Amino acid sequence: MNDPALQRALVIWYQANKRNLPWRQTCDPYPIWVSEIMLQQTQAETVIPYYYRFIAAFPDLSALAHADLSSALKVWEGLGYYSRERNLLKAAQFILEEYQAQMPSDQRLLKKIPGVGAYTAAAISSIAFNQPVAVVDGNVRRVMSRWMVHREATHTSQSQRLLAAYADRFLLRSDPGTWNQAVMELGAVLCLPRNPQCHKCPVQEYCGAYAQNLTDQIPRPKPGKPLPHYQVTAGIIHRGEFLLITRRRKEGLLGGLWEFPGGKQEPGETLQECLHRELAEELAIKVEVHREYCSVDHAYSHFRITLHAFECRYLTGQPQALGCAEWRWVKPEELTEFAFPKADRVIIQRLKLQTESAKPAP
Ligand code: SF4
Repeated sequence: MNDPALQRALVIWYQANKRNLPWRQTCDPYPIWVSEIMLQQTQAETVIPYYYRFIAAFPDLSALAHADLSSALKVWEGLGYYSRERNLLKAAQFILEEYQAQMPSDQRLLKKIPGVGAYTAAAISSIAFNQPVAVVDGNVRRVMSRWMVHREATHTSQSQRLLAAYADRFLLRSDPGTWNQAVMELGAVLCLPRNPQCHKCPVQEYCGAYAQNLTDQIPRPKPGKPLPHYQVTAGIIHRGEFLLITRRRKEGLLGGLWEFPGGKQEPGETLQECLHRELAEELAIKVEVHREYCSVDHAYSHFRITLHAFECRYLTGQPQALGCAEWRWVKPEELTEFAFPKADRVIIQRLKLQTESAKPAP
């Protein structure tokens, strides 16, 4: 199965055509690990500036292990999927304590690190330590299913086992790091989910789906389910020159990030009623809800939201952190010092533009 001609053709193509990505310039497991975590759910081009910023802020494992969550989240702000960042921090502390600050090469030990699953362990182990372990991600599964004419959807556990076995059988054991990156690169730039660029493919002659003219049918798409769409409110709560912001609890979606307080609309509620209820439950405060300032649409991996931001005037109640980790009154110009999710940053940007346009011309 591990056809040396196929392996040679793919590796030669990879060496000549690979994208110049910064984490490919090193064999140090720390930056490789950071990049692999960043690349989960995010395109390489998007990751690059964040990667540089992160490595500049936390140049080694010890620096990351001693960082506080707020500053780490601020560096990560905008990249999304913030649990990755919280896990990186936990993982750095774990490696410091359990492995004396040395990233292990063994997959089993790597998988004990918080946030490191089978894919990341295989990537670190093969790329940084040249261990003969096949990396299997969505790109690799697509490539394997096309090479091997696997006609089933790739998301079932049976398909995943079979495609992982194919990936292992094709692995170039003499240079597993290069091989794994070459297969992933092929999936990322040529063997695309739709319209694969077969005319440029270095392994076209070995590809079963191409030979049988099935590249547009393999892999079979996963049956789709529409994403739920939630209406969410947020209060821009004024008290003199200050605005009230709250910090989400560490656990769960967007944990540790700051936001304008509010929450999800419940059945039968108006948006205004929802905001009153959320502020009472989360902070035990009363406000006067004014006009809707703006609304922002945002998609997460499993649902979508429309965030409705309302101008509010604070009335009564000393804020209490009942449904949040903490709260703070801040001046509008201080908002940029805190890490906010993307939808809230759209509101902050609008507030900033409004303040600037209200300034008298010089
Ligand atoms: S020939 Fe086309 S479908 Fe087959 S591996 Fe190459 S790009 Fe993918």
